Amino acid sequence: MQLKVMENIMAANDMIARENRRLFDQHGLFVINFMSSPGAGKTTLLERTISALKNEFAIAVIEGDIRGQIDAERIERHGVPVLQINTGGECHLDANMIRNGLDEMDLSGKDLLIIENVGNLVCPAEFKVGENFKAMILSVPEGDDKPYKYPLMFKESRVLIINKIDLLGILDFNIQKVEETARALNPDMVIFHVSSKTGEGFDAWLDWLRKQIREAKRTN
Ligand code: MG
Ligand code: ZN
Repeated sequence: MQLKVMENIMAANDMIARENRRLFDQHGLFVINFMSSPGAGKTTLLERTISALKNEFAIAVIEGDIRGQIDAERIERHGVPVLQINTGGECHLDANMIRNGLDEMDLSGKDLLIIENVGNLVCPAEFKVGENFKAMILSVPEGDDKPYKYPLMFKESRVLIINKIDLLGILDFNIQKVEETARALNPDMVIFHVSSKTGEGFDAWLDWLRKQIREAKRTN
């Protein structure tokens, strides 16, 4: 009984996600859905990414949080349009929340839509919202056991960004072990090592992202 209810919820979600996808395609928009635990440094990574790319591409951002708009205010300072979605207790964004948010956004002329999901390593991975890719940010202080504990996050993400690598010499974090476990779960995963604080590793990440944005434009 319980299982059937969940299946119906996911089927309804996936249908709305496909509608969102059609809308994104009409605009030739590349959409990336960022997931991580709270404190992994999503917003700081996004700020650095946005300041590097905002003169090349038209960017819009959706910030998902249970409450408040602190992250949206940080993003807004970079001069890109931001929509805050407060989930009111839900620990993830779903396709319907994004659809409702899109009613208030002007996507015309946009190249890149960044979605910052609610900080949580469990259910954001279960919900498609119409994104091209999910990206997972794992920070060094969280420890290297996360692929064992939260395999779905790693299976569903096209990209893994290992953040806060400036702390690698200070904390015990076996980056090779993380990569091996992540690739065992998801052989196609693209992995970057960055420090949002120092900017180390950003060139490779930004080049990859540029390619995806251009690809989305070409194919639509
Ligand atoms: Mg944040
Ligand atoms: Zn949730």
